[in-house]
Amino acid sequence: MALPNIDASKLTKTLTTAPKPVPDSKTLTFGKGFTDHMLCIRYTEDDGWSAPEIKPYGPLEIDPAAFVLNYGVEAFEGMKAFRAADGTVNLFRPEMNMRRLSTSAQRLMLPAFDEEQFLECIKELVRLDERFVPSEYGYSLYIRPNFIGTEPNLNLKYSREALLYVYLSPAGPYFPRTVKLHASTTDARAWPGGVGSFKVGGNYAPALRPAMDCVKAGYDQILWLLGDDHYVTEVGTMNFFIFWTTPEGVRELVTAPLDGIILPGVTRDSLLALARKWGDFAVSERRVTMPELVQALADGRVLEAFGAGTACVVCSVATILYKGVDYQIPVDPADPDAVYGPLTARLRSELLDIQYGKTPSPWTVSI
Ligand code: PMP
Repeated sequence: MALPNIDASKLTKTLTTAPKPVPDSKTLTFGKGFTDHMLCIRYTEDDGWSAPEIKPYGPLEIDPAAFVLNYGVEAFEGMKAFRAADGTVNLFRPEMNMRRLSTSAQRLMLPAFDEEQFLECIKELVRLDERFVPSEYGYSLYIRPNFIGTEPNLNLKYSREALLYVYLSPAGPYFPRTVKLHASTTDARAWPGGVGSFKVGGNYAPALRPAMDCVKAGYDQILWLLGDDHYVTEVGTMNFFIFWTTPEGVRELVTAPLDGIILPGVTRDSLLALARKWGDFAVSERRVTMPELVQALADGRVLEAFGAGTACVVCSVATILYKGVDYQIPVDPADPDAVYGPLTARLRSELLDIQYGKTPSPWTVSI
């Protein structure tokens, strides 16, 4: 007989006896302060998935010898709940986050799970803590699913026990400004045959030291390059886009392909779809190298460059440091104070309008 999978109809709830005050929206930043409840679902190889539990937010009890604590068996997701003007709360393409979490889990030998049922449980958690979803435009409730291997066993095979859990954090708007990137020629984030396309904690820990060095030097994030030809892959926690005119005179929005090196961003996929629907210029997923970008800048062919991810939606890139030279990227030639280039601004407002329910879309999933 098949072992039980996640079943949202078996969800149990233990409510907090000490509800937290909803934070003043003005104080909200990102990643600090959590809501009243969390969702936990345990797995063992012998018994399958247990009944999902919502319980008060609090510390987890984990065996010191757990797989996650020794070998970093951890995958995670990042998604948001948005409040529309009519008060309803929407998720944005959450099935893509479920799919990506499954794919990341597979790479770590974590068990398969029913994505739809897990999403139902997440919706229930958001419904329960709905009062923490801010109502101001630009604000949201950040949702962080984590998946960890919990078996206490030092044998490096795979974890026969796991915990899938989710907690929520009210998030303020991303402060709109352009960013300065450092294109690193010394550190790599991912490589062929590696795990760059999976959202696993093991990709983020080794990026901390290069990222902090970059901040100390006055830059915001690293632009990760790969290989001797300096293939431009992605930014710290964003996919990277260039809007330019090719040497052949074609106006093109280009981003790195899903070739196993970059994270397949939900924002990336959404922006590509929007731009393709407009049909105003070529939209390509292909490799671009740093020397090609430098040549395009020298030729005056670069129109805009931006990063894209759940946290900021889009973020115009104004500077890239590469081999000791600060290259200036145009933002908006018509407005020296602009924080978004014209295309970046257009993509941003179309996406935000969908996320906040102003534009009806099949991408919006109301809870
Ligand atoms: N690349 C990396 C390395 C990231 O951590 C993120 C954030 N998840 C992204 C790209 C953007 O992905 P998404 O649009 O799904 O947030």
